[in-house]
Amino acid sequence: MSDERVIVVGAGIGGLTAALDMVARGCQVTLLERAAYPGGKMREVSIGDHAIDAGPTVFTMRWVFDGLFDTLGTQLEAELELEQVDVLARHAWSETERLDLFCDVQRSADEIGEFSGSAEAKRFLRFSEHARKVYETLELSFICAPKPGPIDLVRSGGLSGLTDLWQIKPFNRLWKTLGGYFKDSRLQQLFGRYSTYCGSSPFQSPATLMLVAHVEQEGVWLIKGGMARLAWKLASLAEARGVDIRYQSEVSEINCSAGKVNAVTLSNGERLHADAVVLNADPAALGAGLLGKAVTTAAPTVSRQARSLSAVTWNLATQTSGFPLLRHNVFFSDDYVSEFEEIFGQRRLPRKPTVYVCAQDRGGVDGDPIAGAERLLCLVNAPADGDLQDFTADELAACEAAAFQLLSNCGLKLQHSSEMTRVTTPVAFNELFPGTGGALYGQASHGWQASFSRPGARSRVPGLYLAGGSVHPGPGVPMAAR
Ligand SMILES: Cc1cc2nc3c(=O)[nH]c(=O)nc-3n(C[C@H](O)[C@H](O)[C@H](O)COP(=O)(O)OP(=O)(O)OC[C@H]3O[C@@H](n4cnc5c(N)ncnc54)[C@H](O)[C@@H]3O)c2cc1C
Repeated sequence: MSDERVIVVGAGIGGLTAALDMVARGCQVTLLERAAYPGGKMREVSIGDHAIDAGPTVFTMRWVFDGLFDTLGTQLEAELELEQVDVLARHAWSETERLDLFCDVQRSADEIGEFSGSAEAKRFLRFSEHARKVYETLELSFICAPKPGPIDLVRSGGLSGLTDLWQIKPFNRLWKTLGGYFKDSRLQQLFGRYSTYCGSSPFQSPATLMLVAHVEQEGVWLIKGGMARLAWKLASLAEARGVDIRYQSEVSEINCSAGKVNAVTLSNGERLHADAVVLNADPAALGAGLLGKAVTTAAPTVSRQARSLSAVTWNLATQTSGFPLLRHNVFFSDDYVSEFEEIFGQRRLPRKPTVYVCAQDRGGVDGDPIAGAERLLCLVNAPADGDLQDFTADELAACEAAAFQLLSNCGLKLQHSSEMTRVTTPVAFNELFPGTGGALYGQASHGWQASFSRPGARSRVPGLYLAGGSVHPGPGVPMAAR
């Protein structure tokens, strides 16, 4: 690859790490980003004087970034201030039903014992052991490997690998498997929610997604100043190594000659020669024809039904009271079945949404109440149809009312004005990430084969490569960096 001219399209986490990798291999790298900032989904919004994370907030698998910063001759802690949280998240079902989970598994088991009884605590320990086993079985053979198929997974571990693979029950559904562990339906719901980290329904996801529970138990970190600092840091390290980053530069076409990629054209008409192009935009943009005719078939198309979750998010600067928020908080709907049936089946906003609240000014332990306005990201899941339909003002208002009513029912009172609120809908996510309909995690991981049908790094067009959370091994900040 040395001396080759590589163009990276998109400065999301996958694009930034690909650019760093290519420049380290001696390539001349230009990174073209349509937005005015790096990070893609790892973005922040401004409300008054407040900058608030509007994308990822749960930072896991830090070893991926430890390794990356190591190869760059530096260290993650030297470049960013990190803090590990004790409490992974505070979960609430009502004003009286609250459960904290800890990175210390035994501490979580003790809490679950208090919450649901000692038999459930024992079942949680068995579940955690299974989640660990799933993670360890798939770490090297799937997460860290170039895109494998099911046969490769078996081959990678030989006969004992087949036994291991069988034991992690790859063909079972997550919801059913959780039902086998937990008698308390609230715990089935809590651990089922981990499938939404991959933009999927707990009712359709394979049981292997329980590995997310193990990933969180291995550690969740906070980045001082917000997650967007990580993107800015990677961008500055890339520029210091010679990557030419151009913001507000949208690629409108990937050009080919004799069936091989040879250039890109920007929306202002400028054409840049490339020996290879790494596409960090969602590959759905290819099939949608947004990057020109020559590359429409470069990656498999994802049908509307196969898209992962989108979201409606509210960024707020608000006074809060009545509920001891931690950094990560989840408020659960009392009708989880309908929530996912409405999103994936009826393709409408859920009548009774589950709400995630990131309280960015809080740490992972109870602290003093925050005086004045504090920064929140509130998120509910939504169908990814942002390219096909917009919700009416009434539909959005009903969803917002249901979401904030749930918070209030659980004790959390907010006092926010519309001036101090920024709403992002699937339509807005589709505008930010073209071709996706607002899907935030590529295709949904529904059914056991779904993980194998994500595109790999090599596209069907010579010279065009794919990187990011919609590509193998899948979504999430550390996975997009793999
Ligand atoms: C609200 C929200 C919450 C999330 N929560 C978490 C979490 O807590 N933890 C976690 O690990 N993950 C979370 N995720 C998922 C995680 O953010 C993503 O999986 C990851 O950041 C995706 O990175 P990526 O490399 O795919 O690039 P993306 O972030 O998708 O960036 C792609 C970039 O390409 C640019 N682009 C697109 N088209 C063009 C073009 N034609 N020309 C030039 N540039 C173009 C876009 O502007 C964008 O900057 C969350 C995502 C969202 C949106």
